[in-house]
Amino acid sequence: MTEQRFHYAKKQFGQNFLIDETIIEQIVSIIIAAKSEQIVEIGPGLGALTKRLLSLVKELTVIEIDRDLIPQLERLGSGFNNLKIHQADILKFDLATLSKPNQTIQVVGNLPYNISTPVLFHLSQYGSVVSEMIFMLQKEVVERICAHVGSKAYGRLTIMLQYHYQPQYLFTVPPQAFKPVPKVDSAVVRLTPYKIKPIVAQDEKLLTRIVTQAFNARRKTLKNALKGFIDEKLLTVLEIDSQLRPEAITLQQYVSICNHLVNEKNLL
Ligand code: SAM
Repeated sequence: MTEQRFHYAKKQFGQNFLIDETIIEQIVSIIIAAKSEQIVEIGPGLGALTKRLLSLVKELTVIEIDRDLIPQLERLGSGFNNLKIHQADILKFDLATLSKPNQTIQVVGNLPYNISTPVLFHLSQYGSVVSEMIFMLQKEVVERICAHVGSKAYGRLTIMLQYHYQPQYLFTVPPQAFKPVPKVDSAVVRLTPYKIKPIVAQDEKLLTRIVTQAFNARRKTLKNALKGFIDEKLLTVLEIDSQLRPEAITLQQYVSICNHLVNEKNLL
């Protein structure tokens, strides 16, 4: 038996610990079904998922920001030889440093909800070293990731994640599954990176800037929202209705705007 010391949940680290054994088992069985050689868990906390995964997987690396939780994680790993602990901020962590030749990483975790969007943007750049990501997130965030064009939930997060990953809404989790109990529902999502992207932006940074500017003014028409980037003429060439709002524009159309601008610049 591992001894567990008392720990006050810290709001600044988005600590809502999973306590529902059925949900924990459900998530663990989805994770191990992928039979990954290396699993990276973000925000292991008190080890709800970690302690189950340890006995089932080959290599487990955990990244936890809260130094007060490290002794508990070390105790959990003491009977095993497959746990690596990094006390670090995932937003500053280079996931590529964990990848080994010919081995991809499965990234999992019950993410801290207060920084889930920046974490997802940070992770979106690691599609080439990741086999899949399984995350528990605020339900509303999962809905935004999986949204369809034209819906209220469709936005910057949808486009930038769907550019790199195929999302799959797995199941909803009620607030009572956590301690302390959050105010919102949660959901588990699977993100599978494209091996070959169906749509390729010639300049991903430019695509990010275009999409960010468009959704900073999501109530404006596309033409007005993207003032400075594009004009009516370009939208006519691309057969995009300039009167549409940013949420009515598909990923493919944003990429075509981006690629057109890159090609225009190259011609100058
Ligand atoms: N996995 C545990 C569970 O399910 O019970 C804890 C989940 S809790 C929602 C989020 C965890 O992420 C906490 O342990 C928190 O300390 C950690 N965390 C918060 N911000 C982080 C960051 N920037 N980098 C790494 N871990 C972070």
